[in-house]
Amino acid sequence: MCGISAYIGKKEAVSVVLEGLKKLEYRGYDSWGIAALNGEPAAFSVVKRVGKIGEVSGDYLKKAIKGESHIAIAHTRWATHGGVTEENTHPHLDCSGKIAVVHNGIVDNYQELKQELLERGHKFSSQTDTEIIPHIIEGLIGEGLEFAAAVREAAGRLKGRSAFVAVFAATGQLAAARKGTPLILGVHEDNSDELFIASDVTAFLEHTNKVMYLDDGEMVLLNGRAMFFSLETGKEVWKRVVEIHWHAGAIEKEGYDHFLIKEIMEQKDTLFRAINQDDAKITTVAESVKNAFGTFFVGCGTAGKVCMTGEYLFSKIAERHVNSVVASEFANYQHYLTPKSLMIAISQSGETADVLEAIEVAKSRQVKVISLLNVFGSTMMRKSDDFFMVNAGAERAVVSTKATTAQLAVLTLLAYATAGKLQDGKLLLMDAAGSVNDMLNPRYEEHIKKLARLLINKQNIFVIGRGLNYPMALEASIKLQETCYIHSQGFAAGELKHGPLALIEEGTPCIAFVANDETKADMVSNVMEVKARGGYIIGIAPENNEVFDYWLKVPDAGDASPIVNIIPIQILAYHIAVLRGLNPDFPRNLAKSVTVK
Ligand code: GLU
Repeated sequence: MCGISAYIGKKEAVSVVLEGLKKLEYRGYDSWGIAALNGEPAAFSVVKRVGKIGEVSGDYLKKAIKGESHIAIAHTRWATHGGVTEENTHPHLDCSGKIAVVHNGIVDNYQELKQELLERGHKFSSQTDTEIIPHIIEGLIGEGLEFAAAVREAAGRLKGRSAFVAVFAATGQLAAARKGTPLILGVHEDNSDELFIASDVTAFLEHTNKVMYLDDGEMVLLNGRAMFFSLETGKEVWKRVVEIHWHAGAIEKEGYDHFLIKEIMEQKDTLFRAINQDDAKITTVAESVKNAFGTFFVGCGTAGKVCMTGEYLFSKIAERHVNSVVASEFANYQHYLTPKSLMIAISQSGETADVLEAIEVAKSRQVKVISLLNVFGSTMMRKSDDFFMVNAGAERAVVSTKATTAQLAVLTLLAYATAGKLQDGKLLLMDAAGSVNDMLNPRYEEHIKKLARLLINKQNIFVIGRGLNYPMALEASIKLQETCYIHSQGFAAGELKHGPLALIEEGTPCIAFVANDETKADMVSNVMEVKARGGYIIGIAPENNEVFDYWLKVPDAGDASPIVNIIPIQILAYHIAVLRGLNPDFPRNLAKSVTVK
């Protein structure tokens, strides 16, 4: 969701921020823009476009922007306030054209702030909440504040979660403030020469892997070097330089047509990495679950379905009740939380606004928070009491695959650890990971592609499962919705006859997860009921069954069946999307790192 890429240094700034923006494309956006400072006296050249950055070259931009520049800010916008138009695209300027701002997030109180500014004579050219920021800074400088002080004061007036970067043409200074959404600095060892600011490290990883984290409630002024300040007190804050271990290659397609299929295939390795947890760490987390009076697994979207699978895993393996709660609903559960409750928060990016809000609610009730994450250094990591990693590596496709199965694997392991059977869990999961390695071969992919061809024109696809595979039915329908734009709904198989069966017509596809477990006989009966009404049955199962019209074989993985079952769905969704001419890496209207509520 929204990407910010800013640069100040010796290199040609427009090319640097443009390349940075391209690296952030995976976050999802609908328009983009760049402002570069150049000329004498220094003034902003601004380029804004609706749509994708695509193949825009540095040369094209250099012509559009005219003149070399060593300070530039760039933005991919995921519209929240105001339509997707060029005028709403960032960067936004103040009335004098001397202050340019890019912003991520939402200014909750923008209407009242805008009203005040209008009364003072400021002129606006967009419908965004963002545009108030340069105008507030302009007003404060007009009252005699220095640029940095004006940025600090402006940030203090904003309510809600956001982060922004501002440049002041008169002094050539760049400042950024963070209140709830991420910004990270790329630096060199001596904290000089050139500085990068971006929404995530991938934007500048090819230039440096040394970073400084801007924490919530802080700002940074780039003035030769980076100086950090507390927004509240204005006092300077000392920062450490941290080295990041992701390499730039991890965020390239490496020969695949899309990130999505690359990341699906990477599950050959990522599951092994997820399982390879430090025994002591996983045991400590398991102890926290055992000692808690009420454990809440909290996540959104796909991670929310992983949380729900956790409920079944803990019931079955550890004979323990845990609750799964959709993060955006967590505040409505807070009334009976106590300091003895435990929250296990799950997020790929570690930046999901809904989960961050849930963590804040939990903290306000002294609930212990442990996060299960994929991005080291993310906001959730820093806000939690403890964290553990799924180690899936950079996930670029908006649609989550390898991070999901890694989360499932770690939760399965945690359930086994809670039951005092960590090594049994490891063996089971190693076996499943080995089977996934075997599954992900070209012949299997071709078999699924054949099914994709049969489904490309379908309007509805139903998915059913029971037990551990009920949440996977829900996850499968998310995959089909977001990747192929096909209406899909997942159900607990027993629920079909209580309503949705009325929707089954001749040829309606119904995907059924028929695991080799205690749910098998009931699943087969439910599938029969669908078939009797004309449904086209796609069975995902270790064994074929005469009721299946199309069989996708999966290994018999016991309690790891959610992991192996979701993989053919990921491949199916990918191929349907490609056959329908969609870009599976960038589903419309969606974003990777969902930093707004
Ligand atoms: N709320 C701002 C807008 O709609 C920023 C959105 C974003 O984070 O991209 O322009």
